[in-house]
Amino acid sequence: MTNELHPDTQLARGHLPPVDRSSVHEYLDAEPGPFYYQRWRHPVGAELERVLGELEGGHALLFSSGSAATIALALALLGPGSRLAIAEGGYWGTTALLENELGRWGLEVVSFDQTATPPEADLVWLEPCSNPMLTFPDLEQAISAAHDAGARVVVDNTVLSPVLLRPLEYGADFVLHSATKIIAGHHDVLLGAVISGHETDHSRLEAFRGSSGLSAAPDVAWLALRGLKTLPVRARHQSQTALELAGRLATHPAVKCVRYPGLGDAVAARYLEAFGPLLSFDVDGAEAAREVERSLRLVLNATSLGGVASTLEARARWEGDRVPEGLLRLSVGLEDVEDLWADLAQALDAATPGS
Ligand code: PLP
Repeated sequence: MTNELHPDTQLARGHLPPVDRSSVHEYLDAEPGPFYYQRWRHPVGAELERVLGELEGGHALLFSSGSAATIALALALLGPGSRLAIAEGGYWGTTALLENELGRWGLEVVSFDQTATPPEADLVWLEPCSNPMLTFPDLEQAISAAHDAGARVVVDNTVLSPVLLRPLEYGADFVLHSATKIIAGHHDVLLGAVISGHETDHSRLEAFRGSSGLSAAPDVAWLALRGLKTLPVRARHQSQTALELAGRLATHPAVKCVRYPGLGDAVAARYLEAFGPLLSFDVDGAEAAREVERSLRLVLNATSLGGVASTLEARARWEGDRVPEGLLRLSVGLEDVEDLWADLAQALDAATPGS
């Protein structure tokens, strides 16, 4: 019966288990059962993994954050001398973590333009609607070129979620999420996930997670399960508002450029019907960006993305000269589009001398 229901209905009606915080479960007939010690597996996490696995079409594992999922993938799959090719303009923290921390352990990290063919590597890391440069790879082409050259492929699907994009369907080996963002969606969870396309990789990662203890706790898993019930509605509504705001921002005299794949990226349009909550735009330099931040009344001047409240920040404070100094990243939430536009317009006016 439930299999005939629309996927949105199945998510909305999905079972919410009790929050079982037990760190140990009794053995059955002197043998460990499926749950015996929380570091390896627990009932709430297993339910969220089942749902996430179905949504992405693979085998899901939770981690304590998106960054924990990143380090687990790299440590479990790669070793000294391995080469990892990562999309330029994607999440700065991923590149910094892999380059700075694992570089010391002999991992070679190269950056590349993900709209072109990936370079030779053991692992290729793509980020559709990259945060914050909003580039979009031709997934089928990039994944098959990487496979032909002997690489495995990770797609960080944090920004879009499986409601808008399912990278395993295009041949990716792994999908990674900072579930802190649109998956949980309410600014109250730190959580990561990897969804593997192949069972052998899933088993390897599960063994690594259990022994490393990069596991996620039951409470956060429960909050994410609850958040998932509204994911389809949030993802589509936030995308619709983001598209409208991107169009209006592009016509504002204080805005030098807007990055949003919904504004004419033909490759993204082949893969997506809606383009997600994230966009970025440039104002004229660091001081103007700071003035926009100070002038906001409704949009939160805060980091992160994908939540129900809109957030905006100048990214140069974290990323330095990796991004233009006037680049503002906006994650669109569930507020009314006219309220959001009124706030952005008054903040832009405040930052424009003589307006
Ligand atoms: N991937 C992307 C695209 C992100 O934006 C982030 C965080 O901002 C991460 C991964 C890391 O996730 P977390 O903050 O949950 O460790």
